[in-house]
Amino acid sequence: HEPDLSLKEFGERVTLMSTQNDFEMDMMKEMENFRKEYVGNVSHELKTPLFSIQGYVSTLLDGGVEDLNIRDKYLQRIDSSVERLLNIVKDLDMINRFEAGQIELNLISFDINELVEEVFDLLDLEANRHLMKLELQSTQKKLLVHADKNKISQVFTNLVSNAIKYANREGARIIVTTKEEAKFISITVEDNGMGIKPENLTRIFERFYRVEASRNRKDGGSGLGLAIVKHILEAHHQNITVESAYLSGTKFKFRLEKSSL
Ligand code: ADP
Repeated sequence: HEPDLSLKEFGERVTLMSTQNDFEMDMMKEMENFRKEYVGNVSHELKTPLFSIQGYVSTLLDGGVEDLNIRDKYLQRIDSSVERLLNIVKDLDMINRFEAGQIELNLISFDINELVEEVFDLLDLEANRHLMKLELQSTQKKLLVHADKNKISQVFTNLVSNAIKYANREGARIIVTTKEEAKFISITVEDNGMGIKPENLTRIFERFYRVEASRNRKDGGSGLGLAIVKHILEAHHQNITVESAYLSGTKFKFRLEKSSL
């Protein structure tokens, strides 16, 4: 049977119980705050393109726009807002499926250098527009990895297009390096752009997180790109690290399993 508790022991137990309760309460509060913040972020991201669509549609419906060129311009803006909405929804859907463990990788062997060149081809025009150069540096001509090709293509697309968006400097260089190690291929994506301050650096992989300066840029995204990159690499049992020096550049590093073929 329970021995009688001294007043001191009783006090200690009560304190322990209430600390546990406090802990659970804190956890619940934190989850609730997280949920509120998440819903707030989603609706905020959807609101901007929706308001823009609403604005153009009602102007067109009012019938005041007779100039066909202007009408076309409005329709193009509606089109790009719709595309933006679809991208946000697609990104959110992908993150949700990753978090629910519903994404299966389609692992194959492929040449990582060839994939980097394919991504460069798609982004070259955008890079040229900003007078930036895309470069691949590799220890070998061909480096085979064992990974999900489409998902890794998305990783490069997100990292390189971020470098183009945020390097923000004419003549900037974006360099992808690939290097063979014993079991892995190590990869870096580096730019000599504006960099990220140390206080923001720890948060950039969070959903919806954007550094203040990029919030105001019109080509800034919704802050989901790096969260997706992290999920894709985690699904490959790899992590991604970042080093950055404010105003001089940013470097992302990760590894992929080498193909045994
Ligand atoms: P976004 O959709 O806003 O691009 P990301 O998740 O891809 O979101 O990136 C989060 C934030 O990290 C960006 O808003 C930007 O402020 C910062 N960032 C990402 N890559 C770079 C880079 N190469 N140079 C400077 N800042 C970057």
